[in-house]
Amino acid sequence: LIAFFLYLFFLVMPIGQLVQGAILVQNGLAALQRMKEVEDLPAEETGVAVGTASHEPVGLTFRDVHFRYGDDRPTVHNGVSFEVPPGGLTALVGPSGAGKSTVFALLERFYEHQEGTITVGGRDIRDWPLNDLRASFGYVEQDAPVLAGTLRENLLFAANGASEEELTRAIRRTRLDDLVSRLPDGLETAVGHRGVLLSGGERQRVAIARALLRKPRLLLLDEATSQLDAVNELRLREVIAEVAAETTVLVIAHRLSTVTNADRIVVMEGGTVRAVGTHDELVGEDDLYRELAATQFLTA
Ligand code: ATP
Repeated sequence: LIAFFLYLFFLVMPIGQLVQGAILVQNGLAALQRMKEVEDLPAEETGVAVGTASHEPVGLTFRDVHFRYGDDRPTVHNGVSFEVPPGGLTALVGPSGAGKSTVFALLERFYEHQEGTITVGGRDIRDWPLNDLRASFGYVEQDAPVLAGTLRENLLFAANGASEEELTRAIRRTRLDDLVSRLPDGLETAVGHRGVLLSGGERQRVAIARALLRKPRLLLLDEATSQLDAVNELRLREVIAEVAAETTVLVIAHRLSTVTNADRIVVMEGGTVRAVGTHDELVGEDDLYRELAATQFLTA
C-alpha cells in the first residue's frame, strides 16, 4: 500500500513540488510504516486478539530516567521523573531542546534509556512485547502527513478493519464533518498533493482521526506549531478535550489554549522536570512557565 501511494505520488506530481513532497513523505512515512507493521502483525504475534484487545486508557511513569543518544553525545534526560495517570490530558512544555520529543521516542522504544524506569500501564516498557507496547499508542506528529489518495484512504490507513460506524464516529469526534461535507466527493475526494490541500489544522485532525481508528490506550500528540485560524484553534482544543475524556493524552503543547485546559502540565528544562501542576498553580509558582505562557508557548 505504501509503495502504491509513493508510486502515485511521484508519478504525477509536478517537479517543482518534488522536494517539498519528498520531505513530507520522509517525515511521515516512518510513522505510517510503523503503524502499518503493527496493524499487519497476526494477533498471536502482537498478543492482542482482534475484538478482545483492551482499549482501556493506560497511564505511564518516568522514574529517574537518564538518556543520551550515543556514548559520545550529551546527556538529554538527566533524571526525568513524572507520572501520568490513566485518562485525562497531560501537557509537556519547555524550551526547545528540553527533551520533550525524547520522552515520546523513549516511550515508543525507538531508543533505550540508560538508567531509570519507564512504565506504561504499571509495567516496565522493557517487559512489554514491543508490538503490544507500540500498538497501545496512537502517535500524531507535528506536521502530520497527508498521503496522495482519498480522505477515506488517509483515515483508514493502518486501520483497515474499522467499520463504517467507527469511521463516522472518528470523523465526528475530530470535527471533520464540515470538511467532509465541503469536499466535492466527500470522503472519496482526493486530498494531498493530488487533490484538495488541507490546512495545517485539518491535517492534524485527520491524523488524530487516523490514530483514533486504531483505538489507542494512550495518545501521544506533538501539537502543530503552525498558526491556526480561530476556528481551527477552537476545534483542535475541543477535539483534544473530547479525546482526553476517553483515553490518556500526552501532548507536547505549543498553544496556551491547550495547556490551560490540561489536567496537569509537566515543565521540562535541560533534561529534567522542574515543575508539575495546573496552569493556575504554575503561573503562580514557576518563572519559566510564566515566561513560556507570556510567549503563548509558540516558541517552545
Ligand atoms: P523541541 O521543542 O525543539 O522539539 P524538545 O524539548 O522536544 O525540543 P528533544 O527533541 O527531545 O527536545 O531534543 C533534546 C536534545 O536531544 C536536543 O539537543 C537534540 O538536538 C537532541 N536530539 C534529539 N533527537 C536526537 C537524535 N535522534 N539524535 C541525536 N540527538 C538528538
